[in-house]
Amino acid sequence: MSDARTQLLKLVKMQELALEIQAAHAVVEDAPARIEEAESRFRERNAEYVDIKERYDAIDADRRSRSGELATLEETRKHYQDSLMQVKNQREYAAVLKEIDAAKASIGDHEDAILASMDEIESLKTELASRAEHIETERGIVEKERAEVEAAVAEATARIERATAERTEIESQLPAALVANVRRVEAGRKGLFLVKVERESCSACHVRMRPQVYQEIRQASKIHVCGSCRRYLYAEAAFTAAPVSSSAPPPENGANVEAVNGGPV
Ligand SMILES: [Zn+2]
Repeated sequence: MSDARTQLLKLVKMQELALEIQAAHAVVEDAPARIEEAESRFRERNAEYVDIKERYDAIDADRRSRSGELATLEETRKHYQDSLMQVKNQREYAAVLKEIDAAKASIGDHEDAILASMDEIESLKTELASRAEHIETERGIVEKERAEVEAAVAEATARIERATAERTEIESQLPAALVANVRRVEAGRKGLFLVKVERESCSACHVRMRPQVYQEIRQASKIHVCGSCRRYLYAEAAFTAAPVSSSAPPPENGANVEAVNGGPV
């Protein structure tokens, strides 16, 4: 088996792996959007519930933060209350009293607000409870979709790792210049650096090749790139048919690459 044939077979495998990695990356990248889609379908189906829940969460959060502030304000008030005993003159006394009044006013505000929200909280709670069973089923649907997406991501990540390792191994067996050029073409051609020859033309850009070039591709006696799109070319017949003996000298490592139009790569 000629060097060119061996190298082409490796390129075919590398292209397969590259497309596999590309597809797996797409699975990983699409995952957040797929989860968001499931969440968005949940929100659409349960718009009324979502409104009630959001209102409940907002009031509840407000109540919690006011309760927290109340504790601090009570401490402040107590602190000033105690320091009343240590004031030395009327002016200090008035200042401390002013602080106590301010704390008391804030405490009053928070207590009023908490009290006012209590009725609504209770009625929202009842509303939420009456929908709990249905919502649990609905959340189950979302969680199932999320689990499926996460499983697909885990599988794709493992596939990327395995295919990347395999590609690295293949690349290590090829001339560095060839690998570098493959990567250049790959980056410029959306991951497709190797295509089949069909009807004596590049199957990607349909540029026709000279008969001699076509023969060399059919025999896999030389590695060629398309003169137009610069992708590497191969003919399936080269790997299925019995090797055709070639009168050409054995190609040197990676150097024996010609463009279809005859120019150097
Ligand atoms: Zn082409």
